[in-house]
Amino acid sequence: MRPGPERRDPPPRTAYHRQMANRSRLTLTDDLVAYVHRHGVREHPVLAGLRERTAPLPESNMQIGPEQGAFMALLVKLIGARRILEIGTFTGYSSTAMALALPPDGRIICLDVSREWTDIARQAWTDAGVADRVELRLGPATESLAALEDDAFDLAFVDADKPNYDAYYEGCLRVVRPGGLILLDNVLWSGEVADPALPSENARIMHALNQKIESDERVDHVLLPLADGLTLARVR
Ligand code: CA
Repeated sequence: MRPGPERRDPPPRTAYHRQMANRSRLTLTDDLVAYVHRHGVREHPVLAGLRERTAPLPESNMQIGPEQGAFMALLVKLIGARRILEIGTFTGYSSTAMALALPPDGRIICLDVSREWTDIARQAWTDAGVADRVELRLGPATESLAALEDDAFDLAFVDADKPNYDAYYEGCLRVVRPGGLILLDNVLWSGEVADPALPSENARIMHALNQKIESDERVDHVLLPLADGLTLARVR
């Protein structure tokens, strides 16, 4: 016997909130995060060491977490990336994680302005045995980006100064090949993007970019509520 027709949807607002009930309702307690780090990620010892090395820095919250590093490394393998661009390297967690996921002849170009932070990154690349896969270009990323060739990369990760995010996104659309992937970090900006008041300049910047990508015909995308929000945009 055929099942009866689906019950009619309640009014839109109610329907929306009913759908909201299907989302993950996990509250990420410290214990749960520790569980994920312990059982959900195989963290390379150099990456674990890099977290310890970075923790005392006042900017340590700029480092991505182990699960994000593992996710990005898996993306590198899933799309068979061989050429990666990173905008914003900091102390090297993401570049080391992605470089470890590259084939031996793969290459990652890292753009950053800080010699102090990237000296820590350099040590990590050496310790992880991937220094020959990494090329660091110090200087303003908008200038370094302009010097790169069209369609030169399979994957780009943007995690630098937020006021230039739109310029970085546009630059990545030029240098990432069709079918390649652009990753944008911090797109939820601690949740401020969902606050109608958009209480900070960076929240306004991120919200504007999120809206732009939402209707950008040049990409297929998803905004994942991972860490501080990570958008995956596949270049069409
Ligand atoms: Ca970040």
